[in-house]
Amino acid sequence: MTTPRVEIDLGKITQNARCLVRRLGARGISVTGVTKAVCGHPDVSKAMLSGGIADLADARISNVIRMRAAGIACPISMIRAPLSHGIDDVIRCCDTSYNTEIDTILELGSAAREKGTEHHVILMVEMGDLRDGIMPEDLNDGALHVVATPGLALNGIAANFGCLGNAAPTVDDMAMLSRLADEVEGACGPHVALVSGGGSANLAWALGKGVNGRINNLRLGEAILLGIDPLSGQPINGLHTDAFALFAEVIEARLKPVSRLMKPGAPKYGKLELILKKDHTGRSVLAIGQQDTDAGGLTFPSGVEFRGATSDHIVVDTGEAEVSVGSEMKMSMNYSALMRAMSAPDVEKMVHHGLRVNGAVKDARPQPRLRLV
Ligand SMILES: *Cc1c(COP(=O)(O)O)cnc(C)c1O
Repeated sequence: MTTPRVEIDLGKITQNARCLVRRLGARGISVTGVTKAVCGHPDVSKAMLSGGIADLADARISNVIRMRAAGIACPISMIRAPLSHGIDDVIRCCDTSYNTEIDTILELGSAAREKGTEHHVILMVEMGDLRDGIMPEDLNDGALHVVATPGLALNGIAANFGCLGNAAPTVDDMAMLSRLADEVEGACGPHVALVSGGGSANLAWALGKGVNGRINNLRLGEAILLGIDPLSGQPINGLHTDAFALFAEVIEARLKPVSRLMKPGAPKYGKLELILKKDHTGRSVLAIGQQDTDAGGLTFPSGVEFRGATSDHIVVDTGEAEVSVGSEMKMSMNYSALMRAMSAPDVEKMVHHGLRVNGAVKDARPQPRLRLV
């Protein structure tokens, strides 16, 4: 086994997906599995589908192409507006795309006609996140354009929260999205089958006690993969938070001064020996860096403290713990660290296929013996 590597427990991802599908399903809300944080990793995507998710979404066409090449045949949506040079691929590989610009919508229409297919469009509405989205007052206009474009079918509207902005959607936001769905249908007919209320940042609302209105879908990435609510950073009840683990090798382990070495001849020379001894701590260097992950988004084993990172090194204090060169350190990742590790070419991705045994997920292969810190 090489390091750095991400180990993925597919059984936990399936269970997280199943739990969210069941809880939201009871409220009439479907779950679209968002695969961008794992670069459309086919095994992870299939684990989501095994949990009862019926359709997937990704922000990059390269990830969708990877999933299609691996035989994933379910509906896949492009959740970032298609690029002008990627229109044909979107029509070929995606059933649906999320859009905000009329020019792009017209291009999608002509590409769909050329290919003799019908492509579904969902219009993204700006509701305060200030990333992508049509202003609410322009929504009917956009919808009329889609409906009037041969080759396209309007399939719904969607909003985004907690992506660029850090605000949770309110009950009023959701009520407004429902009203917008009604307004669009008033303007151009019953074309708003899907009203997608947002991503994991909207789970607190969706699992709360309020009324759904017309919201009948969420697009979930982080909640399924990490079991974390992105706004609070807290674990979501009933979900696994350890489906992913990152491993890196210790390439240096020695006692080093806590603070910068004092130069001989410094004023307190007489006390130097004593201060330095008290000031030393176990310090290790890991062969992984900012090029491989978001070092600030890692959680280390207890007793190990992050000191800093460069492009290729992470430095940690290990206190009294005995750490040997050549051993591996196991870390957990937040969303940003996961996303970068999954897209880093030098980080190996290793999946464990869970087998269901008496309702519990058991690994088919024996766990490799690791010398963990
Ligand atoms: C990334 C993304 C999501 C999923 O967000 P999570 O916080 O991971 O659930 C949903 N919708 C859009 C448009 C996205 O870009």
